[in-house]
Amino acid sequence: MAIETFQTRCKNCHAAENFKIGHDDSEDSLDKAVEHLQGKTQIQVRSILRKHKVDTAEYGFALYHCPKCQTLYNPYAVRVEYDDIMMFQPFYKCPQCDSTLHKATSPIENYACKQCGEKQLSRIDF
Ligand SMILES: [Zn+2]
Ligand SMILES: [Zn+2]
Repeated sequence: MAIETFQTRCKNCHAAENFKIGHDDSEDSLDKAVEHLQGKTQIQVRSILRKHKVDTAEYGFALYHCPKCQTLYNPYAVRVEYDDIMMFQPFYKCPQCDSTLHKATSPIENYACKQCGEKQLSRIDF
């Protein structure tokens, strides 16, 4: 799996932002992907790798949105299932309002521009 990149451009204020989805081919295992995780999340995932049996792991850049601000974010997300019944998935917070981010599943047009707040984003694929 290669990283997919795209840009959003606002038709109102012309602000542009780049996004990435997925992970690099070199990160073919959680052992390698763990480098991308931040602070506490990286410590927790390393501990799972050391002490538990990992069943499935999903990781890579993902598209999230703030349900309050309607803006898009691009964390390197991880979800690990281990020991048959356990699941680890960190929460991501909106830096503006501290709401918990949700996965963005709607078309880009439904989200707001970070600069002007208008829902006039268009998506340009590279
Ligand atoms: Zn704008
Ligand atoms: Zn927010």
